[in-house]
Amino acid sequence: MRTEKTVMKHLLIAVFMITLTGVVLTGCGLRNADAENKPENFVTNDSTKEKSGEYMFKVQKTDEEWKKELTEEQYYVLRQKGTEKAFTGEYDHHKEKGVFACAGCGAELFSSEMKYDSGCGWPAFFTKLAGDRIIEQVDRSFGMIRTEILCASCGGHLGHVFDDGPQPTGLRYCVNSASLKFIRSGQK
Ligand SMILES: [Zn+2]
Repeated sequence: MRTEKTVMKHLLIAVFMITLTGVVLTGCGLRNADAENKPENFVTNDSTKEKSGEYMFKVQKTDEEWKKELTEEQYYVLRQKGTEKAFTGEYDHHKEKGVFACAGCGAELFSSEMKYDSGCGWPAFFTKLAGDRIIEQVDRSFGMIRTEILCASCGGHLGHVFDDGPQPTGLRYCVNSASLKFIRSGQK
């Protein structure tokens, strides 16, 4: 009996120590990330599948700088991966001719010719402008597996891309209006 009790006691202590180590390590990890002040500038995939998941963005700004430059809504969407309410965005039913640039850094991403009415409540595009302007990565938030799209220059969150779009691409780039800035043709 006594031996059994001692074994149990040691087991409990071991479990306690392992838990404690885990908590301390997690805490350190979070503190380090904060201290470097870089979590917003790096996008790291948590999936081991995407090995190229770490990017260094051309446009690097601190959180404070972003807060100063962006509106509250833009900051929420671009920097905190928020989503504006459906059917409320400025560009949902926007039909003028021009280019849609990233509201964070001004990188041109889509043109009005690529825009179509998907009825989903957000601006939708069936393709993007040529070049490496947009980064895609797996988003596992809210119990779904989606493909998040980010501005390749500043890392700003744009929205998601789905494969239920019209031909010829079959893609639907579903983008928050808050992530975009419209430049009317001939306005540049
Ligand atoms: Zn950008």
